Amino acid sequence: DHIHADKPHYTISTDATYPPFDFQDKNNDYIGIDQDILKEIAKRENFTYTLKPMSFTSAAQLVANGQADGIIAGMAITDERKEVYDNSTPYYKTGVAWIVKNGSEIKSLKDLKGKTVALKTGTAASEYGKSLQKKYGFNIKYFNDTDTMYNDVVVGNSAATFEDMPVIQYAIKNGVKLKVMNTNNPGNAGSYGFFVKKGENKELLASFNRGFASIKKDGTYDKIIKKYLGAPA
Ligand code: GLN
Repeated sequence: DHIHADKPHYTISTDATYPPFDFQDKNNDYIGIDQDILKEIAKRENFTYTLKPMSFTSAAQLVANGQADGIIAGMAITDERKEVYDNSTPYYKTGVAWIVKNGSEIKSLKDLKGKTVALKTGTAASEYGKSLQKKYGFNIKYFNDTDTMYNDVVVGNSAATFEDMPVIQYAIKNGVKLKVMNTNNPGNAGSYGFFVKKGENKELLASFNRGFASIKKDGTYDKIIKKYLGAPA
């Protein structure tokens, strides 16, 4: 029946490792808050997609270059990104944590003078960390993925790192030997959104927003959050 167009098919990039938002289960299937949201929205909005997991910075670049249609990757809506992308309705509020290893002698940002801080390339938390560099006099070492970055702090090569609060809290709950120093005072980092290249893929963005409104309304969104974090958002 020619009245019914084929389902649109999209390429969506994501961060290969960003639990609890994007990660793999025992069968190597992609799961997480982002992945469950995307899957449910695609079902309701009647589109299919190929997922492209990679480093966060590459995943973001792929959409900026027009090689992928959209990105979902625990990616915060920032003013800089509004120049390059169009974003969806915000779907999860985040904040920036600064983090040291368990038993570290670092007690305040001042103690980071002359020390090395591990940051993840292209992230909002890394911009936040970089903005404090001059004031506190630390050196920066960049990593492409969160796990390698954490590990550099755990083994004592880097004295601290910056990452999003829900991401580090989930890692600590799952056994990573790190400690958040500003639990009650996170740096402002806005909210996560789904992104397309600025001015493009308007249909996909509209589908995401419509589907998101629908999963919010019937409680599916809250169920997804609860599945990964154990409490409603
Ligand atoms: N939330 C961070 C940002 O928006 C990092 C995203 C990520 O590393 N996947 O830049």
